[in-house]
Amino acid sequence: VNEQLVRAPVLWLSERPWFRAAATRSGIARRFVPGDTVDEALSAARDLGSLGIGTMLDHLGENVTTREGASAATDDYVAAVQALRGAPDVDGAVSVKLTQLGLDLSRNLCLSNLRRVIEAAAGGLVMIDMEGHGYVDGTLEIHAELRGAGASVGVCLQSYLRRTAADVEALPPSSTIRLVKGAYLEPAEVAFTEKSEVDGAYRRLFATLLARGHTVHVATHDEDLVEGARRLVGTRGVDRDRVEYQMLFGIRRDLQERLAQDGDPVRVYVPYGTEWYPYLTRRMAERPANLWFFASTLGRR
Ligand SMILES: Cc1cc2nc3c(=O)[nH]c(=O)nc-3n(C[C@H](O)[C@H](O)[C@H](O)COP(=O)(O)OP(=O)(O)OC[C@H]3O[C@@H](n4cnc5c(N)ncnc54)[C@H](O)[C@@H]3O)c2cc1C
Repeated sequence: VNEQLVRAPVLWLSERPWFRAAATRSGIARRFVPGDTVDEALSAARDLGSLGIGTMLDHLGENVTTREGASAATDDYVAAVQALRGAPDVDGAVSVKLTQLGLDLSRNLCLSNLRRVIEAAAGGLVMIDMEGHGYVDGTLEIHAELRGAGASVGVCLQSYLRRTAADVEALPPSSTIRLVKGAYLEPAEVAFTEKSEVDGAYRRLFATLLARGHTVHVATHDEDLVEGARRLVGTRGVDRDRVEYQMLFGIRRDLQERLAQDGDPVRVYVPYGTEWYPYLTRRMAERPANLWFFASTLGRR
């Protein structure tokens, strides 16, 4: 399967204003985003908790264009980590996007905003999402700087990028890495285009990350990759707390629950907020079948 051929038309469609308006009216976002507020996100987290599943909160938003916008997004994250600290019954952490904290404006602004979130988290894990390929250097530098200063911070790496094997070699020791396939439309110069290559890279990167002593979040809904990871963890006798399985809210709930029932650590990424549109378009581009689901919700109205 050529990934770009599948993604490009869906992303084109999602840029049409009529499509956006229809998506908004349809209410399809609720399948992937449980609510606008942190309280709604915590309520979803409690439901997951009752199934033995942890949560990673993501306050939606990206590519902020003003210092005020970046500061407001930082305030939202500080509120999220404070809400988590006030909810000891919830097993939760937060994940941020650096372009939401001002990376497009200035690296230092972004870094100081992220430090503010990390201080508020008081030792709780703060994960950094990975965005389009132009942000990888900046993101990895900020991650390494904060790790060097002892912060409880981890970062996402994407197996579709050709550079990721080299990036793994350069990680600070004992990093916490979320391994994903990658959700953006990337050119063939920087990213593998065939699913078989992306999956092959995922398997190799996982094995290397484990061998190098990192903690790995296996963030995929691909059952073959999840099973492969579980087998490797079993045969290598890796500590259970070094590998966690992560999926997105609303996707493969059956697999989330089965893994949790089998006693594997599972965490679900729970996005919330009003800026859900770019997130939703990536979910549709990954799986054009979601467009049919979307069309059927329009049909029912
Ligand atoms: C916890 C978590 C955090 C993530 N963080 C990032 C990040 O920081 N940066 C980034 O670039 N990407 C991130 N992603 C997205 C990731 O890169 C992929 O785009 C996404 O997970 C789909 O790929 P997949 O690994 O599930 O495999 P795929 O091969 O795409 O899918 C495997 C199977 O999963 C199911 N599935 C996958 N996607 C969907 C969907 N949208 N709707 C319904 N079913 C679906 C289908 O059954 C499909 O057959 C994250 C994903 C997860 C799970």
